[in-house]
Amino acid sequence: MKQKMTVPSYMANFKCIAGACEETCCAGWYIAIDEGTYKKYKKVKHPEMKKRLDKELVVKKGSSPECAAKIKLKNNRCAFLAKDNLCDIYKNLGEHYLSETCMMYPRNTNVLGEKTELSLALSCPEAARQILLSKEQIGFNEEEGNPLPVVGARLKLQANSPKHFEDYVLKMRQLLIAIWQESSYNIQDKWQVFEQVMMTFHECKSRQDLKKLTSFLNEMQNGGYLKVNLKSVGKVPQNKKQTSLLESYTTLPVAQKLYATLREMRNQKKWPSSRYETCYSYMIDGLGEAFDIKQYQKGEEIFEAALYESYPYILENYFVNYIYERLVPINQKTPRESLEEMYLYFALIRLHLIGQAANGTHLSEEDIVTLIQSFTRVFDHNELYIQQIKKQLSSK
Ligand code: SF4
Repeated sequence: MKQKMTVPSYMANFKCIAGACEETCCAGWYIAIDEGTYKKYKKVKHPEMKKRLDKELVVKKGSSPECAAKIKLKNNRCAFLAKDNLCDIYKNLGEHYLSETCMMYPRNTNVLGEKTELSLALSCPEAARQILLSKEQIGFNEEEGNPLPVVGARLKLQANSPKHFEDYVLKMRQLLIAIWQESSYNIQDKWQVFEQVMMTFHECKSRQDLKKLTSFLNEMQNGGYLKVNLKSVGKVPQNKKQTSLLESYTTLPVAQKLYATLREMRNQKKWPSSRYETCYSYMIDGLGEAFDIKQYQKGEEIFEAALYESYPYILENYFVNYIYERLVPINQKTPRESLEEMYLYFALIRLHLIGQAANGTHLSEEDIVTLIQSFTRVFDHNELYIQQIKKQLSSK
């Protein structure tokens, strides 16, 4: 039976570039093994592979159909990734023995009620180029296709007769994406309106006020959010239009704390991606061991010229994809937490690029895409990193 799907426009041009790729799909990650594949692995007859599968699989506590076990890492590489970067499971047992995660990567699927939503992972360099460098706005097409394995979230939604806050996710997300794609806004307007809308969602959720949420969403439809901006913008000088919460993530002291935390983490353990390791070292070279404030200020100017003036579509596409694939604003316990996590990601990306820029005179599209891709590879595929940063930020 065919399935209803939402497919972002960037998927049409994506093709794995295999041998020409700068990365190896699974290097540096714990690979989730779904229940069906785990059962198949238990029945493998190939003597050598049977022995290796018994040794290298770790059964996951509190397992789910999507993740019954994980493959151990050896020197930050999947235990089945051979020296020639080919997969031993694929080579010795065949494609049908690949787990759903391996078969699908870099494609991700979320199931929302009756519908499957497709997206691409930014950790794949070719996907990152397709997503971030498009000068055309990301569109979302409704299609029908064969059922696909679910490698992301699975939500039961009652979108037609909503009873809970989460049932409004599609409408809320549509509004958030529209704000990021609003061509009459500059970047500061986008941040400002986005934050106001997220905080309204937060208030509705914390008071369980679904009536207010419904009327707010109705009011915002068809560009109602433009009026929110017009009402509030006049009070703030054009060059100072920044939101308070965002500001708290992009101050100099916060940048210094993030820098110190990243350095502590790196001192404990090498990063699990050589591409990210290079980007990280550019940041350290630019800002110096002791965090040079003058260098930071120089880098900040270059960062703003590149991201806000020369290539504003990169940031727009990044946030549109972020909101879409993570199901903002319901990806954390509250919309405020969801907003703060998004700001933290932005603050980290910003810091790396400021550091890199401080070393030179400009940032190219390729510099930005390489940083976002390799950063995502490390921080999105092992949630412990971002948790550690959050803990450090709240403890100091
Ligand atoms: S990272 Fe992306 S482009 Fe590279 S080999 Fe994997 S799927 Fe292909």
